[in-house]
Amino acid sequence: MKIAIIGGGIGGLASALAMTQAGFSVTVYERSKALIDLGAGITLAPNATRVLYHLGLGDELEKTSVTPPKTEYRHYHSAEVIMRLMTKDFKQLYGAPYMRLHRWDLQEAMVKLLNQEAPGALRLGAEVQSVHSDSNQAHLKFADGSVSSADMVVASDGIRSTVRDQLFKPAPATFTGFVAWRGLVDTSLLPRHLHESVVAFGQGRHINRYLVRRGELLNFIAIAHRSQWEAEGWTIPAPMDEFLEEFSNFDEGTRTVISRPAKGQVFKWGLFGRPWLNQWHSGRIVLLGDAAHPMLPFLGQGAANAIEDAIILTRCLKSESTPEKAFDLYQRSRAPRVKTTTEHTERRGERYLGEPTADSLKGEDPGVQYAYDAVNTPLG
Ligand SMILES: Cc1cc2nc3c(=O)[nH]c(=O)nc-3n(C[C@H](O)[C@H](O)[C@H](O)COP(=O)(O)OP(=O)(O)OC[C@H]3O[C@@H](n4cnc5c(N)ncnc54)[C@H](O)[C@@H]3O)c2cc1C
Repeated sequence: MKIAIIGGGIGGLASALAMTQAGFSVTVYERSKALIDLGAGITLAPNATRVLYHLGLGDELEKTSVTPPKTEYRHYHSAEVIMRLMTKDFKQLYGAPYMRLHRWDLQEAMVKLLNQEAPGALRLGAEVQSVHSDSNQAHLKFADGSVSSADMVVASDGIRSTVRDQLFKPAPATFTGFVAWRGLVDTSLLPRHLHESVVAFGQGRHINRYLVRRGELLNFIAIAHRSQWEAEGWTIPAPMDEFLEEFSNFDEGTRTVISRPAKGQVFKWGLFGRPWLNQWHSGRIVLLGDAAHPMLPFLGQGAANAIEDAIILTRCLKSESTPEKAFDLYQRSRAPRVKTTTEHTERRGERYLGEPTADSLKGEDPGVQYAYDAVNTPLG
């Protein structure tokens, strides 16, 4: 079967690997002319790394990833520890490690393996403008006017998915009242005791900071409430003084870290919510990852769920006789899990409101997310 994948992000590349390994013929259409280093980190929880090891990426990821011994959740001002997760023990607990990576390192590892297993499958500079399907095939039209067909299309074109908007016409995205900043710090410029993994939170703001790339860099994401609308997008540079002022009553360690971003630069964007979609497929076209189920970044599970989607959709395609039947099984298999994760993510955002106390994160057991085994869980 010939499969066209729209989007060479995390979900698209994971799908391409899983589907190639299952014996399907895959082409990935990515609109960027070159792969872009966004200069950001990512956490891959055990539910994601379990799949990535299964796809054969483990050795490559181990070369650059960081598994912190522990991750502490601290009071934003006093730095008192509210909750401590022994992240190094997760491999034993959940059967797969907790990894923190530079996104570029993850992307490079995935592209390298795809180039080995399906040379030429990744087409850069290929922006899909529209898709439609008939009873036999799915058809793609590209921004340069060219066209192509496949037996089915996986639309993993991200949070602002063209395909989702075209096929399902969902209600527009709405500003959540949260804005985010991100930056990377060269750890050689930080005192040794700040080479750590910490979430400082309280009064509706939080800063998540952790090491990536063998510990050479520290990634941070800071989130705060704002009443006004902010642009949605990852690469908008933000004024440093406004950013530092927003978090000026955070503890000294956190302030030291965020005041030293590489090139003195942070990026800022608004977080937008999108309504839950009850239907992820139409004819021979199916949505995957953020295109199907965007979620806020409070739990570090968006990419993890895109990776889970990839392996589950592949298993469904192997078990069913037609793409339509496989999509139906995929949706039934994935929707309850993704909905639970999305709701958990929203609850986590609420936990960061108000003054942190010993009870603020009670009941926040990550095992609910991390134990999920997309490689072996029964389908349907
Ligand atoms: C600040 C922040 C921090 C996060 N941290 C984490 C984390 O720690 N852990 C985690 O699991 N998740 C995290 N996430 C979520 C995660 O980044 C996303 O869920 C994940 O990237 C979704 O993967 P995707 O493949 O669906 O979309 P994307 O990775 O966005 O990929 C979409 C791709 O499609 C391409 N594309 C778009 N339109 C077209 C088109 N018309 N034609 C061709 N190509 C197209 C884009 O160029 C892009 O390459 C975070 C998100 C944010 C905002």
